Amino acid sequence: FDDNLARAQGYLARFREDGVLNHIGGQAVPAVSGAVFESISPVDGQVLARVARSGAEDVDAAARAAKAAFADWRAMPGAERHKLLHKIADAITARADEIALVESMDTGQAIRFMAKAAIRGAENFRFYADKAPEAQDGKTLRNDAQINMTSRRPIGPVGVITPWNTPFMLSTWKIAPALAAGCTVVHKPAEFSPLTARLLVEIAEEAGLPKGVWNLVNGMGEDAGRALTEHPAIKAIAFVGEGRTGSMIMAQGAATLKRVHFELGGKNPVIVFDDADIDRAVDAATFMIYSLNGERCTSSSRLLVQDSIYDTVTARVAEVANRIKVGHPLDPETVVGPLIHPVHEKKVLSFFDTARAEGATIAAGGEKVGDTGCYVRPTLFTQARNDMAIAQQEIFGPVLTAIPFRDEAEALEIANDVEYGLAAYLWTNDLGRALRMTDGLEAGMIWVNSENVRHLPTPFGGVKNSGIGRDGGDWSFDFYMETVNVCLPT
Ligand code: NAD
Repeated sequence: FDDNLARAQGYLARFREDGVLNHIGGQAVPAVSGAVFESISPVDGQVLARVARSGAEDVDAAARAAKAAFADWRAMPGAERHKLLHKIADAITARADEIALVESMDTGQAIRFMAKAAIRGAENFRFYADKAPEAQDGKTLRNDAQINMTSRRPIGPVGVITPWNTPFMLSTWKIAPALAAGCTVVHKPAEFSPLTARLLVEIAEEAGLPKGVWNLVNGMGEDAGRALTEHPAIKAIAFVGEGRTGSMIMAQGAATLKRVHFELGGKNPVIVFDDADIDRAVDAATFMIYSLNGERCTSSSRLLVQDSIYDTVTARVAEVANRIKVGHPLDPETVVGPLIHPVHEKKVLSFFDTARAEGATIAAGGEKVGDTGCYVRPTLFTQARNDMAIAQQEIFGPVLTAIPFRDEAEALEIANDVEYGLAAYLWTNDLGRALRMTDGLEAGMIWVNSENVRHLPTPFGGVKNSGIGRDGGDWSFDFYMETVNVCLPT
């Protein structure tokens, strides 16, 4: 721990001294107005950095830089983009220690998970580096009178707007395919966790990415974010965040007919039938809600358990929750670190009162830990009904709501009775039941007898209010590219 802390302080010193600048056309620059905001650490509320608070003029400069760089970047052969993106992946790996420690201090996420998130960021670049040479591929469609040839071309400069949870990994997941497709980028990271986005753009340029291909604009959603979604040079917005922000972005982008891709919230069920492997199910359900502080869109936030095993399963989950180490994110033993920010902590804590008022039982946790920092105990609500706010609203913390069900029909009814439809987890050893249930579940991604294990070529995204569009594999190129048809009469 001491060693981690000393290295983290070393890496953070530059941010304390220089702040977090924008990056426009290859230059690190402050906001034109000179305005800044403070980014604080959830560990102790200390100011980590003063961050450029950009306005429409900064976004305009970044969008112009992205537009100016687009012609050369799209013309670069896929094989060269492949090499360059691999270099970025190598450079991320070389600085993984710095990325992980800075991210832990900025977000409160435990270092044991952030070390992996940094490496996963490099994997995202490698995956899309390998796909870059085929990004423009299309189909040949023939009939008696014509040969039609389709191909794809990059849509143009794009805006990428990211949330505060696992910001490094998520940014790579959105930006790597944009670059592989031949798009240039303006990135607006979340105001609660802006540090590693700055590292990422620097790493990319040091690895050889031409200036202007990737621009960074910091600031608030309602000014910098808004200006990006309204800018005429920006052809598409890839957004990850809350549903109500997605609605605003759609409205803001309407005048310029923006293409949008939304990855939004979830209230994901994990459904455990009495024929399931209970040990594995408990293990996976607790991992999916109590790792990453529960601040993850695919967290298993509703535990639906068949009534015959409800008491056994919830007792086991409570036991796990009570054992989990809550502590400083740089302690290698820590599983749950502080929540991102006092504002978010207040929201999570308010659900403890809501649970009591709604008549649920707090079977584990339900309280703040200590006086300093945004620490809360891993929490389990039992005896809940699906119409309670604790079962309907995304809490986005280490808080699990357990609801009993009788049979398949009731499990499906409860699982689907939310506005969201991102992920679902199903535990049963009955194949017929697994097929019936997966057919009926309203979710973009369903894992059977497994926690969330990502295979990068598979589609990622949600149905209902959990999003619009898919990424992963080739799906990301569908968003970042236009398909063009050329017809030749024969
Ligand atoms: P948020 O919607 O508050 O903010 C996300 C980003 O949007 C930030 O960069 C913010 O500055 C910006 N923004 C805010 N208002 C804007 C506006 N009017 N115009 C343009 N940009 C604006 O979300 P958050 O609280 O940072 O993140 C948590 C949410 O993200 C949760 O709902 C979570 O489920 C969701 N999320 C979804 C996925 C997924 O893949 N489905 C992944 C991670 C997080």
